[in-house]
Amino acid sequence: MFENAPEKDKCYICVNCGKKVKSLFKKYSASVLKLTDCESCHNVADKYVEYDVVIIIIDLVLLQKTAYRHVLFNVDFKNFWKLSVILLLMEAYSELMRSSPERVIKTNEDEKPFLNEFNEMADFLFYKLSLNVAIKTSCFMLVLYFLTKMYCKVLRRDVIDFVSVWKTLTISSFGTFLLLPSLMWDTSVQEFHLCVVSLYTTMSQLLAYTALCNCQKFWSIITIFSAYYCKTFCFDFLDAVYTNIVNNI
Ligand SMILES: [Zn+2]
Repeated sequence: MFENAPEKDKCYICVNCGKKVKSLFKKYSASVLKLTDCESCHNVADKYVEYDVVIIIIDLVLLQKTAYRHVLFNVDFKNFWKLSVILLLMEAYSELMRSSPERVIKTNEDEKPFLNEFNEMADFLFYKLSLNVAIKTSCFMLVLYFLTKMYCKVLRRDVIDFVSVWKTLTISSFGTFLLLPSLMWDTSVQEFHLCVVSLYTTMSQLLAYTALCNCQKFWSIITIFSAYYCKTFCFDFLDAVYTNIVNNI
């Protein structure tokens, strides 16, 4: 999933202090390499170069900023957009399950898998929710990108592109996978479960954004919560537009 292949003329980041380093390691032979030390903090610039992917994922789950810096800056993770699509569909499915509790109760009584009970209306609802989630996530990303661009411009820092913001948001939203147990086995605890997942995802987004911009936590909190506010406003606006269209048909 993560590739550590260094590219020529690419700048890397020390995972400890966030300063730039020219390379992560020096290769002496096919099997011998030496990790580079950071000139600013004098620690090994990126210890994760030698680590297995599983260890990196565990550190991401444990909200280690060093792991986020490694994935965001020092690896070539091109397929993050696929993860983004999976997360989008999972969130839409979660909203579908919460918006049709009577359907779940009915299917539980019948002791049949609820997926087989979805009719055309449920399919349409799922497509509508997927579109809603896609628009909301885009709104969240655009606000985040705009505020990040403004931050970089004011402090005269290197510009952070939209793809980096998208990648950060995707990787820090993997907490959505924690919805799986609730979606699959016990829909009765879903609201409480959803709160826990939302809290964890927000914490992970705050940490990932801090790692991306190497900024103060205060600015991360302002940025992420502003983006959340705009996302919620966008959701209410979409809901009002949809209700208006349905009433006029
Ligand atoms: Zn350093």
